[in-house]
Amino acid sequence: MEYEMRAEYAGDASPREAGARFECWHMTRDHETTAMCGIDLDEAAATQTPDAWGTPEGQPFCHTCGALYLRQVI
Ligand SMILES: [Zn+2]
Repeated sequence: MEYEMRAEYAGDASPREAGARFECWHMTRDHETTAMCGIDLDEAAATQTPDAWGTPEGQPFCHTCGALYLRQVI
């Protein structure tokens, strides 16, 4: 299983729009755009490796994704 962190933007804004406001990070599996908590994220959203999970770069992070991710990897 490959994990990836993907950004959610406030108000369903597309990350392509100028001024799109970053909301929080979610975790996705195998390069899907649906987060582990079930919400759909934009395919153009920023991503980063799960190495950033638990670091300042990975904050704020979705609580539901965090709980599910913890249960699967630890
Ligand atoms: Zn989430």
